[in-house]
Amino acid sequence: MEERGNVVFLEPDYAVTGRVRAVSGISPELCYQCRKCTSGCPLTFAMDYYPDQIVRYLLMGLEDKVLSSATIWVCSSCETCTTRCPNDIDIAGLMDYLKQQAHARGLVRPKENLSYAFHKAFLDDIGRRGRVFETGLLQRYMLSSGAWKAKLSDGTLWEEVRLGLALLRRGRLPLRPRGIRNAHEVSHLFEKPPASSENTMQSSAS
Ligand code: SF4
Ligand code: SF4
Repeated sequence: MEERGNVVFLEPDYAVTGRVRAVSGISPELCYQCRKCTSGCPLTFAMDYYPDQIVRYLLMGLEDKVLSSATIWVCSSCETCTTRCPNDIDIAGLMDYLKQQAHARGLVRPKENLSYAFHKAFLDDIGRRGRVFETGLLQRYMLSSGAWKAKLSDGTLWEEVRLGLALLRRGRLPLRPRGIRNAHEVSHLFEKPPASSENTMQSSAS
């Protein structure tokens, strides 16, 4: 960013987009800001930055701003934006990449971000046994996010308990987790890549 008189010149910073491309194969620098992604997104009402702004900030090298945004966690990966983009930028995939980065760098915590708390509880369950155990998922989400405290103070916790009991009576909530055959193959997908391949990605980005 450079200021000349009253004018601020914004310079693109391709270091960040180069890293994105090397790891995810997505090229945000192809964006020409037509905003078709944003105009089709069904969740902009809950976002702090619109999808085209997320792409723009990445182009400006403002990675921290993007990684700490609510938008990346509000995105439901519906892929409307990806389908609409005239430059074939996989914006939904970009949002996934940004979630992974925010998680890997420890920039989000379950108690500060309910969407992240739910994502984490859900994926931990999948990684553990290959499928979700809904009763346990609910408990872990409530405890890790601290949502139970808010619900206790506004009285809605008892509505949740009543709903849970009704579902239990109808057999809609299992009491014991069930796994799947070859769950270790799913767990394998959640393992971190070896350090050498991470280094390869980093070096190819530079
Ligand atoms: S639709 Fe594609 S080109 Fe248009 S603003 Fe969004 S990312 Fe950029
Ligand atoms: S994938 Fe995410 S950003 Fe794209 S349209 Fe759907 S909710 Fe919006």
